[in-house]
Amino acid sequence: MTRMPGDESVVHGSKAPLRGLPSVDALLRSTPIASLVERHGHTLVATEARRLIDRLRQRLRDGEPIPASSLAPAALAEELASECARRLAPTMRRVINLTGTVIHTNLGRALLSDAMMAEAQALMTAPNNLEFDLDDGGRGDRDTLIEPLLCELTGAEAATVVNNNAAGVLLTVAALARGREVIVSRGELVEIGGAFRIPDVMASAGATLIEVGTTNRTHAADYRRAITERTALVMKVHPSNYAIEGFTAAVDEAELASIAHGAGVPLATDLGSGALIDLAVHGLPREPLPQQSLAHGCDVVTFSGDKLLGGPQAGLIVGSRETIARIRKHPMKRALRMSKLPLAVLSATLRLYLCPEKLAERLPTLRLLTRPHAAIAETARALRPLVAEALQPPSPADPRMPPAYDVEVTALNSQIGSGSLPLERLPSCGLAIRPCDGSGRALDALVHALRALPTPVIGRIDRQALLLDLRCLEDPRAFSEQLPRLRQQLYGPKRP
Ligand SMILES: *Cc1c(COP(=O)(O)O)cnc(C)c1O
Repeated sequence: MTRMPGDESVVHGSKAPLRGLPSVDALLRSTPIASLVERHGHTLVATEARRLIDRLRQRLRDGEPIPASSLAPAALAEELASECARRLAPTMRRVINLTGTVIHTNLGRALLSDAMMAEAQALMTAPNNLEFDLDDGGRGDRDTLIEPLLCELTGAEAATVVNNNAAGVLLTVAALARGREVIVSRGELVEIGGAFRIPDVMASAGATLIEVGTTNRTHAADYRRAITERTALVMKVHPSNYAIEGFTAAVDEAELASIAHGAGVPLATDLGSGALIDLAVHGLPREPLPQQSLAHGCDVVTFSGDKLLGGPQAGLIVGSRETIARIRKHPMKRALRMSKLPLAVLSATLRLYLCPEKLAERLPTLRLLTRPHAAIAETARALRPLVAEALQPPSPADPRMPPAYDVEVTALNSQIGSGSLPLERLPSCGLAIRPCDGSGRALDALVHALRALPTPVIGRIDRQALLLDLRCLEDPRAFSEQLPRLRQQLYGPKRP
């Protein structure tokens, strides 16, 4: 049996190793644990107590010396309380998005406002008229909660919504073209991300994809030649996250609509992001609008709820009365329908578009996209000295200390994100942080420490520098308040 120096009461693995380890029952009966049970109930505390005792038993069996003080009721209670808190903490956490990508798919896309959430909160904590007609007392349809407004905003005859735009495209193809052919230009056979690839969507919807044209150039004659009696749909897909430049040609929607309609076939457009207002009004790059696609003669247009629209995850499908009716009747519609929570938020989002002059104030996504450069630059200038100070090692002469960082205000370019105009950039400002010794290790340590903050901070790496684009940091305190913690993370004693 070995003894740790200076520790008189070591419990150590041996033939009788488990003496000193309380039973789960005894642990649960002990006074400090009783208050934990009072707070969380028996089930969670007992489960965690069992796991804690199991872990300790295993460590003892493995011959690990454990100070008897760690096995005292108060110590076990503290350990158990923090385990319970850890189990009860949400796994989805707030983060601070300093990547410069405003609509960041990995960080939850569009942000919702307090007002939108307050409205949804009131609706979700009580029964509501989700599928109940308040005029005649009969059964209602959830689509009617948003259809009239969506039609008014886009000029469509009819509209429906599903869980997300991928579902919208899948349902559209399944409803209009199952067992038949869909014609798509080779330049538009894109992968949006994850498993959403146009050829795979066609296959899962049970349609046969007919590719026309080439990657860079597709002409009207290509479409005309491909249309046969087996054709059910012509489809245009917004290439979203990539751009074809140089020697290119594509057939515009109006011409394509007339080709399709000439053969008695509908035209569908998947816009992806899709904006409901002309973004140029706000000094932003133009993004195609569903109302334009419809005006060009598209029979159905699909787009996302949580990209430029600025709302919850949703797939919006707008178009002619006849095509929307076929889509709505398809059995998959029921499987892909929107739940009441995002539907309430979508309704709140769409009503914001009734006051377009107020939109940049009330719609967080647009507010961030149009945030004045001067305000972003001011945030950068205010934060720079605070960050520089936090990153200064406690004792620069100490060779064991990681090197210091150089922090400077720098011009940056934000991007809209989520596949909107991948080549367009929004002038922004932020901090560039470089390890003074240029080491990748120091950069990794910083990136890691920022991610380990109570509210993790996510930036981007570019050529050995960490860039923090401050466009989306409207309240700098959310970051500055965490700087002492960042400093501790980087230079403080490592936690066991
Ligand atoms: C983003 C996107 C989709 C998928 O939309 P989700 O709402 O994420 O399901 C489909 N098509 C295009 C062109 C897109 O840009």
